[in-house]
Amino acid sequence: MGEPVYEIYAVRYAHHDRKSAENFIGGDAHDASQPLDFFVWAFVGPGGPFVLDTGFDEAMARKRKRTIVKTVRDGLGAIDIDADKVENVIISHMHYDHCGNHDLFPRARYHVQDGEMAYATGRCMCHGQLRVAFEADDVVALVRKVFDGRVTFHDGVDEIAPGITVHKIGGHTKGLQSVRVNTRRGPVVLASDASHLYDHFEQNRVFPITCDIADVLEGYRTLKRLAPSLDHIVPGHDPKVLQRYPAARPGLEGWVVRLDVEPGGR
Ligand SMILES: [Zn+2]
Ligand SMILES: [Zn+2]
Repeated sequence: MGEPVYEIYAVRYAHHDRKSAENFIGGDAHDASQPLDFFVWAFVGPGGPFVLDTGFDEAMARKRKRTIVKTVRDGLGAIDIDADKVENVIISHMHYDHCGNHDLFPRARYHVQDGEMAYATGRCMCHGQLRVAFEADDVVALVRKVFDGRVTFHDGVDEIAPGITVHKIGGHTKGLQSVRVNTRRGPVVLASDASHLYDHFEQNRVFPITCDIADVLEGYRTLKRLAPSLDHIVPGHDPKVLQRYPAARPGLEGWVVRLDVEPGGR
């Protein structure tokens, strides 16, 4: 009996224009535009839907000078996922763009790595350089969910449901986890910020926000080990994802794409 298969959707909710040099330690030889897109992901199948990451809201977009293109609620709604009814949310890591919208999933249980909560609440946050992409309100909101009995902690590799596993990668943050989801084309690995762009894991280059470069580079190996091919790895912030994968439904081009089907060329 095989594992259950899921449909996977990438839902784009925000955008940030920037230069390529800002995306790599050591800069970039090409003085090119290389924007980031911001996504949440959803898996639809038995026991689902499951949501990976929660994005940020309009107030945070203003504070961080990012542009929301469509709210997370609307993006999920476009594929008939009612945020009010979602029961399981996986948090890849606790940066502001992955764990905001604190009240969007009132019924959900949140899945996070031990190491990420320890990192976001411990001594590393004494350093401005390490806390730069964290928001105290996000961290406090997740701590409150711990006290409300709504958080499940994971340590390393763990199964969320048959066909869905989390894998601690670290590197970018101490407890960053990527997620592997079984689909009809085999397991697909959602890297989240274990690899912001295709260029990172394909060229072994490193995004400037990191707590451990060695773990980032080992993380690329882990992603490749978990995936049957490079085409089964989905980076966390790459606008190319929207070009390579088909719209989830007619009219959702550039907004919601389907990741459980074979991608087009690069
Ligand atoms: Zn991050
Ligand atoms: Zn991010």
